Amino acid sequence: MVTTHNLGYPRIGSRRELKFALEAYWRGEKDLDMLTHTGEVLRAQNWQKQAALDLVPVGDFSFYDHVLDTSVMVSNLPARAQQTASTPWQAYFLAARGRDAASDNEQHCRHNVAAAEMTKWFDTNYHYLVPEFSEATRFEANAELLLSQLAEACAQGHNAKPVILGPVSYLWLGKSKDNTDKLALLDDLVACYAQILDQLANAGVEWVQIDEPVLVTELDAQWTHALNQAYFSLSKSPVKTLLTTYFGPLRDNLQLACELPVSGLHLDAVNAADEINKVVDWLPSTKVLSLGIINGRNIWRSHLTEILDRIEPIHQRLQDRLWIAPSCSLLHVPIDLQLEQKLDPEIKFWLAFADQKLDELSIIASALNHGRDSVAEALADNARAISSRQQSSRVNNLAVKQRCEQLEPVLAERQSPYAARADIQQQKLKLPAFPTTTIGSFPQTADIRRTRKLYRDGAIDFAEYQQDMHREINLAIKFQEQLDLDVLVHGEAERNDMVEYFGSQLDGYAFSELGWVQSYGSRCVKPPIIFGDIQRPKTMTVDWIRYAQSLTQRPVKGMLTGPVTMLNWSFVRDDQPRSETCLQLALAIRDEVLDLEKAGTQIIQIDEAALREGLPLRRSDWQSYLDWAVFSFKLSANGVRDETQIHTHMCYSEFNDIIEAIAAMDADVITIETSRSDMELLDVFRDFEYPNAIGPGVYDIHSPNTPEVSQIIDLMTLAAQRIPNERLWINPDCGLKTRRWEEVHPALAAMVEAAKSCRQQLVKAA
Ligand code: GLN
Ligand code: ZN
Repeated sequence: MVTTHNLGYPRIGSRRELKFALEAYWRGEKDLDMLTHTGEVLRAQNWQKQAALDLVPVGDFSFYDHVLDTSVMVSNLPARAQQTASTPWQAYFLAARGRDAASDNEQHCRHNVAAAEMTKWFDTNYHYLVPEFSEATRFEANAELLLSQLAEACAQGHNAKPVILGPVSYLWLGKSKDNTDKLALLDDLVACYAQILDQLANAGVEWVQIDEPVLVTELDAQWTHALNQAYFSLSKSPVKTLLTTYFGPLRDNLQLACELPVSGLHLDAVNAADEINKVVDWLPSTKVLSLGIINGRNIWRSHLTEILDRIEPIHQRLQDRLWIAPSCSLLHVPIDLQLEQKLDPEIKFWLAFADQKLDELSIIASALNHGRDSVAEALADNARAISSRQQSSRVNNLAVKQRCEQLEPVLAERQSPYAARADIQQQKLKLPAFPTTTIGSFPQTADIRRTRKLYRDGAIDFAEYQQDMHREINLAIKFQEQLDLDVLVHGEAERNDMVEYFGSQLDGYAFSELGWVQSYGSRCVKPPIIFGDIQRPKTMTVDWIRYAQSLTQRPVKGMLTGPVTMLNWSFVRDDQPRSETCLQLALAIRDEVLDLEKAGTQIIQIDEAALREGLPLRRSDWQSYLDWAVFSFKLSANGVRDETQIHTHMCYSEFNDIIEAIAAMDADVITIETSRSDMELLDVFRDFEYPNAIGPGVYDIHSPNTPEVSQIIDLMTLAAQRIPNERLWINPDCGLKTRRWEEVHPALAAMVEAAKSCRQQLVKAA
């Protein structure tokens, strides 16, 4: 008999119950008991939904983040949070958010400390809180939370499998605050894990899932040694351990993963499909092999007969040693497709969210255990869905496919090199030195959101909606003229989200109502779904920009989201390479760029906020990603005449290792987030002799504080030490949509004043 299990289930609740409970707790409207109760209810529901599995995960639930929970489990919350807090939960949320529970309600604001740093969980859009280490770090087992959840699950009659993040990945994901060697802490950490495993064994646990996703990254000899050492020590534990790897193939680490002294190995059989047979061959016959056969990262139904064709022979061979599961935790997909009321039925038929993925797993298990006939109907339904998707005319658009095939690479090149273009553009634009601009969005007021909602719900017609939006654009233009900014924006009032806004105007995109996925803490995102060939039926932004431009003599930037960002922030098709989908997006954006140019737009900004975060897990795969990502950007941007100025914007601006690709994008101006780094992020542009213009962000838009004029001048002075004056712009770090007008006004006024002073001081000095 094959064993079914799950690596983790989404925590947030199908109606984001956890989000709302957390935020109410943070505002001081709910007490800890109520929050705890919400957690209990959600866990009970989640386990109930997984009850058909042979083993259900316990410990995958979290009130904020499972890496932070691991820090609690080994007593390694940052000292500043522990010292400030009077209870463990206070310390937990202080570490997570830098503020105390109830302090969102400002009167109650008691303590603030620096929150732990947050960063992306491998190549997903989930963010974890970075563990902090120093020479003084000592670990101590503190598994009460896990043990109590285990007791909960057992009391509810489930066969529980505790899930913990492995010690080596935990160290790997963390940061040494004093530059001591993290691996020097391994022995102490492993001793702590050994205690926790003992405690779990005493609680009656048979299997523990230990996640070591570092096994899909490039590991040097030290880290390889650390894995050997850690698992050799832990092998003395009385529980059986299932070592889980996910998100990619094992490659060089395959032999290591097979040989570590554990009781079983989980392989991501979707992303490492080519390695399945090798692992079957290599894995010692004492070990269980868990195959992650259902994709835990996308929203498509699996091709069940194809999976069966592949794993029936393996089942024959391994018999009871074969386990099956989703490829990774289902944390990264929405919860329940059944709740979707508005999705087009044809498209809905092709999809599977977390609950449906677990159903697929049960079908596969039945087929393996009792023969395909036992699930004939389910398999037939699955086959109908697969062929409906393959053959749908809504997926396949011949014109788009032909356009991609016939694409000539020169379409991605500007007519003249940057220096020549810069002259031509300047003759037309006649901008002062250190031109000032903003990144695009202005405050999204309650009014704006209400108008958009009324229009979406059909409560107001387009004429009324347009009138309201025009009023907002008017305000934005007047505001910028009064402030004396040089290059204006229309303010993006019509956009709810920089991807959804464009996706909803393109063929090939669909949207869910409740397809939320946790991004960090209580924050969730609802990625749109790219199901078919992408085409732009008509212009998307031209009317708004044309209207904005009609109100002023100063140039108004056209604002677009770039193809790579559209791709990286969507659920994408699995029936063609990502690069192909990106190309289609690029062509759609290119059409818009050219229409904007035709409408007289002199400056067009194409945001690529998510370009960097699409980098593959292994460095050796970076170049091929960068090649097609940069090509897609260039294809979208570079059809314009020399006199049209292309801007791009990126948020996370650590470009040390990809500066060549950034330069290859050949944008006339790149605006980036630099203010918090004291312009140090510009070093790489200087060292690389980056040739085009740069707008280094001069103030942090995440903070409500008004920047001082002198601060901005200081930052620009630092920038001017790295980049020649004539290639510097002045702008905020990012868009201003999360700020209030009362904050934006003084901040931009300070920025313009600083620019004027720079023109006098710095230009004269040069
Ligand atoms: N143009 C977008 C804005 O100003 C850019 C946002 C982003 O880079 N994340 O909001
Ligand atoms: Zn940004």
